[in-house]
Parts: sequence; structure tokens; C-alpha cells
Amino acid sequence: MKYKYQANCYIIDYERDKTMFKFDENGEFETEDLKLIDWIKKNKGFLKPIAGEAKQEPAGVKLLHCKKCDFSTDNNGILMAHYRTEHPKKKE
Ligand SMILES: [Zn+2]
Repeated sequence: MKYKYQANCYIIDYERDKTMFKFDENGEFETEDLKLIDWIKKNKGFLKPIAGEAKQEPAGVKLLHCKKCDFSTDNNGILMAHYRTEHPKKKE
């Protein structure tokens, strides 16, 4: 379970006067400790777990942009064909 909150923020159990954990410089904290997760749910309901990194773009897909217009593709061959047909070099 991964949580996101304020960077370098200490989470303290005031009843026991004990530091439970600390968010890192990215404001992230990860634990598999079920007791701690339970404690967070009971005491720190505002700390919501974040679900993985699902919202990132799929890896390996990189768009190539035409330098001469706003055409773009993820296939280099298609881009080369685009250059040949749409922007042919002028013969002198
Ligand atoms: Zn183009």
C-alpha cells in the first residue's frame, strides 16, 4: 500500500507519543504492514492510498513529430514516408 501526502511529513501517534512513519521527500510512503494500514484507516482517514502508477502513458510508445507540420506518428517508417510525400525535397 502506497500513500501520498506532504513531503517530509511525520505521522505521529499522539496517544502513544510515537512516530509511526514519515513521508519521504517525494511525499510518498509505502508499507505492507497490515497493523499500520489498519491504524492509518482508524486514525488518519485523510491519508488515502494511491493506486500504483496506472495513469502513466504506456512505456515504449514515443510519438515522432514532423518538423515541417503538425503531423505525428509512433512509426518512424510512416514518418519517413510522410516526409517523402508531403515535404519532397526540391530538385535544383
Ligand atoms: Zn509534415
